Amino acid sequence: MPPDNDTDKRDFRAILFLIVFAAGAYFYHVNFQGGPCARPIKYHLGTFDKSFGVSKESFLKAVSSAEDLWEKKEGKDLFEYTDKDGFSVNLIYDDRQAITERDTLLKANIADNSNLADSVRSELLALERQYDLASARYEKMLADFNNEQNAYLQRVKALNKKGGASGNEYQELTAERNRLSSGIAVIEEQRNEVNAIAQERNDLAKKYNLVAADINEKVDIVNQTAGERFDVGEYISDKEGERINIFQFENRDKMIRVLAHEFGHVLGIEHVSDPSSIMYELNVGTKVSLGTGDISALKELCEKK
Ligand SMILES: [Zn+2]
Repeated sequence: MPPDNDTDKRDFRAILFLIVFAAGAYFYHVNFQGGPCARPIKYHLGTFDKSFGVSKESFLKAVSSAEDLWEKKEGKDLFEYTDKDGFSVNLIYDDRQAITERDTLLKANIADNSNLADSVRSELLALERQYDLASARYEKMLADFNNEQNAYLQRVKALNKKGGASGNEYQELTAERNRLSSGIAVIEEQRNEVNAIAQERNDLAKKYNLVAADINEKVDIVNQTAGERFDVGEYISDKEGERINIFQFENRDKMIRVLAHEFGHVLGIEHVSDPSSIMYELNVGTKVSLGTGDISALKELCEKK
C-alpha cells in the first residue's frame, strides 16, 4: 500500500506581525494642534519598489482605500496626499515578500498535487479491488484444474492397476486429457491478466509515491518559514522623520489592511485586542473594513481635545 500523505494535517499559516516603533511620542503628533483628527495629516509616496509587481497607480489606489477606511468612519479628511509633504509611505521589497510569493506558488502547486494524489489513490483502490477479484478467480481456476487433473490421474492409475482401459474408457480418458490441456491455456490467460493488473497497480503506486514525495518536499519548504513572526509593515517616527514602511502582503486586501494599520498608528491609535480589527497586532483578519476595536479607538481618539 502507498504511504499516507499527511499534508492535509499540516498548517501553513505564517504569523504576520504588524509593528509600531514608538520612538518619539507619536501620540503627540505635530498635526494634532486643535486635537487629534482636527486637521488632515499630510503624506507622500516615498520609496516605491516595482518588484512587488504592483503599479504605482494601483498602489496609490490601495493607499487611498486604506485612508478611506478611517475617513469614512469619521466623516472627515484625516489624511491628505501630497507630492512631497508630510510623512512618507514606502513600499520596500525584501525576503518577506519574496518568501510570500514563493509560498503562494508552492501552495498552489501543493493543492494541485493533492488533488492529483487523491485521484491516483482512488484509481489505486479500484485497481486493488480488480486485482483481488482476478486473483481469486485465478486461484479458483487453478484449484479446480488440480482437482480435475488429480481425478484424471487417479482414474488412469486405477485402470492401469486393473490391467488397462477398454476402448470406451480409453476414448473418455483421451477426451478428458484434451479438455485438461486446453484448460491450461485458459488458466495461463487468467494468470497473465492478474500479472498485468499487478503491474498497472505497481506503476500507479510509484506515481502516487512520487506525487506524495513532491508534496511533502514542498510542504517542508513552506513550513520552514511558516510560523515565523515578521513585520509586514511599520510606522516609524524618529529624528529622520515620520514614515510608513510596507514589506509584505499576500493579496490586495491584505495590502490595504497593512496600509490602514500603519495609518492608524500615524493617527495615534495603538493595537487593539480584537483579532478581526485592522489595529490588531497581527494581520490575520480578511475584511477590508474597520473592526469594532478600530471604531471605538478612533472615536475615543477624535473626541480628545
Ligand atoms: Zn501595529
